[in-house]
Amino acid sequence: MLDIQNIRTQFPILAQEINGKPLVYLDNAASSQKPISVIETWENYYKTINANVHRGIHTLSQLATEEMELARKKVQKFINAKHDYEIIFTKGTTEGINLIAYAITNLIKKDDEIIISYLEHHSNIVPWQMLCERTGAKLRVIPMDDQGILQIDVLNTWLNEKTKIVSVNQISNALGVINPIDEIIAKTRQLSNAFVMIDAAQSSPHLKLDVQKMDCDFLVFSGHKMYAPMGTGILYGKQESLKQLHPFHGGGEMIATCSFEKTTYADLPFKFEAGTPNVGGNIALGAAIDFMENIRLDNIQQHEHALMEYATRHLSEIEGLRIYAEKANRAGAISFNLEGVGIASDVGMILDKMGVAVRTGHHCTQPIMAYFDIAGTVRASFAIYNTFEDIDKLVEAVQKAQRMLS
Ligand SMILES: *Cc1c(COP(=O)(O)O)cnc(C)c1O
Repeated sequence: MLDIQNIRTQFPILAQEINGKPLVYLDNAASSQKPISVIETWENYYKTINANVHRGIHTLSQLATEEMELARKKVQKFINAKHDYEIIFTKGTTEGINLIAYAITNLIKKDDEIIISYLEHHSNIVPWQMLCERTGAKLRVIPMDDQGILQIDVLNTWLNEKTKIVSVNQISNALGVINPIDEIIAKTRQLSNAFVMIDAAQSSPHLKLDVQKMDCDFLVFSGHKMYAPMGTGILYGKQESLKQLHPFHGGGEMIATCSFEKTTYADLPFKFEAGTPNVGGNIALGAAIDFMENIRLDNIQQHEHALMEYATRHLSEIEGLRIYAEKANRAGAISFNLEGVGIASDVGMILDKMGVAVRTGHHCTQPIMAYFDIAGTVRASFAIYNTFEDIDKLVEAVQKAQRMLS
């Protein structure tokens, strides 16, 4: 049995009152709170180590380098990558996707094809549209049904030698739907030579990731959604795949030699890490991984699954409340609306008055909102420190909002 109360004491922010009510934080899909071990790791870095990495022979610089490279190894182990140099530090999922969409440019010709899905976050749509503008390639979007389930049969006819990359998320941030990425990857391998990129922004906090088993080329996630500081993130790339790409940013750290006539690039991972990295943040990301591994991913998954079932059951008892993708396999988040009573943001405002923090709006997924012909949803999303009592308070607050708005 997990001691959730003990876990909660490790999150100082949760002890706060918001609008005179104990904070019920259910906006974890936007950003999770940070345990004291992560906060202290970050603070101690600035108090005792702070120096630039990979450049100095002085003690602090070497210490900073060692600590950051240790964090890289923790990430390697966390996602079961084959080599530590396949781990690139970024500032988040968005940067990771943009990096790949830019670095792949030279490999894309006019009329090549890029495949994404209907369930993508804007940051897994826009960089590909920009790539298409640069190259004349075409973007294809795997359709979904009214339960938010991707209709991946189209891949049987879409995948061919023109397909250059398939980029999909593992869990939808808007609906919480778990996508069939194993089947998508298998089909892509079978029918094309395309790269596969997985947006793991919503899965890294909830599921055990194994990039070797998955057999993806690239996988990206953000630190701040999995208990680490904002401004941290990871791009994993299979060695052979990363080697085919050009650098994204040019600058310090990413060169082997540099003259005005010619520059040669550094080996992995530094080829893709131009400029001074977020050293303190990256080290604290290592502490966030320690935090999760101490609890164990399977325990986290089990607890959050129980919360999800409980929330689904009790929210669906409210008359006039519609849960989106209710029949789909979901994790981490539950998206709903009160039909006929105001808009999602009105509900969110009333919940906030009761200390309940949820996300309302389009969740950076306007195509999904357009599909359902709505402006937005109310989204409650879970982390390891959430309790069944949190869900009870959510349900109570939603019922109150319904009374006030109808
Ligand atoms: C949050 C999120 C992103 C963007 O992450 P940033 O941390 O804002 O860069 C991309 N995809 C999904 C599925 C997300 O949930």
